[in-house]
Amino acid sequence: MASKITKIGVLTSGGDSPGMNAAIRSVVRTCAYLKIECVGVYRGYQGMIEGDFKALDARSVNNIINKGGTILKSARCDDFRTKEGREKAHTQLIKEGIDAFVVIGGNGSFKGALLFNEEYDFPVIGIPGTIDNDILGSSYTLGFDTAINTVVDAIDKIRDTASSHNRLFFVEVMGRDVGHIALNAGVGAGAEEILIPEQNLGLERLLDSLKRSKASGKSSSIVIVAEGDKTGKNVFELKEYVEEHLPIYDVRVSVLGHMQRGGSPTCFDRVLASRMGVKAVESILEGKSNLMVGIKDTKMVLTPLAEAIKAHTDIDEELIRVSDIMTT
Ligand code: ATP
Repeated sequence: MASKITKIGVLTSGGDSPGMNAAIRSVVRTCAYLKIECVGVYRGYQGMIEGDFKALDARSVNNIINKGGTILKSARCDDFRTKEGREKAHTQLIKEGIDAFVVIGGNGSFKGALLFNEEYDFPVIGIPGTIDNDILGSSYTLGFDTAINTVVDAIDKIRDTASSHNRLFFVEVMGRDVGHIALNAGVGAGAEEILIPEQNLGLERLLDSLKRSKASGKSSSIVIVAEGDKTGKNVFELKEYVEEHLPIYDVRVSVLGHMQRGGSPTCFDRVLASRMGVKAVESILEGKSNLMVGIKDTKMVLTPLAEAIKAHTDIDEELIRVSDIMTT
């Protein structure tokens, strides 16, 4: 077993997501509860390399559970991809007396943590923080629930305009490689079509579906398009294509962009973050390492980081079916 742990570092890395602050708060408070020191590592691995550390006690994380973003800041750090960069980071951690760290981030952040552990046998535990919900080993990643609620809220508003003017809206949502946001928010917002990277329904099917929608008496239509959808056309090209083939439609485009990453986390994300933080610190104290905390069937579970980084999560086929039925 690893030597006694007395000081744990916590950092956020990669893209930010709602719930990261709640997770930081949980790690810090669990350390305080268990009478262990906790150190915040600022700006992800960049701050680790530069020794940008600050001791955090229970009171230093007051009033952050409801805040989006991350108080520790986040960064993409190319230096950490190099052996020299990781060596510098190790020197800084040792100098500060940090015995283990919790990294809140996505796939890339976990790859870096795993490599670091292989090289220095340094205990690391990951917490999945990304709105994409694309990490194996957890049914939900931190920020996903907030993001889909943000998207649903935006689409509800867009629908008001769409139905007032009998318009068709293409709404682009985040998801270059996976369509979880598009599919879940699409079903939740009652979208007429959902275009995701995992399946190519083809442009013909889109036109057919829009024709049917019009014929059935619908006054407005919303089509959700994930960034990485497989039609081969972006939202603006889709607009042109539909206007050319179905002139009955007055088409508009809305790209939701980074607003999907921000905002106050939902209660679900706050609770999930609180549970994950406790599990992460307790796991370190049990001598565990190279694991990611996740949730499955409402229970906290641990998955080897090596597995978590392997692949994307599969799209929910049952939800695709539900979506198809709902657009009847
Ligand atoms: P997101 O899901 O938001 O993209 P992420 O954690 O996957 O989050 P990345 O930019 O891929 O975001 O990774 C974050 C940081 O982790 C990188 O800037 C780099 O410092 C480190 N990292 C990523 N991949 C590796 C790797 N193969 N080796 C070492 N470090 C890595």
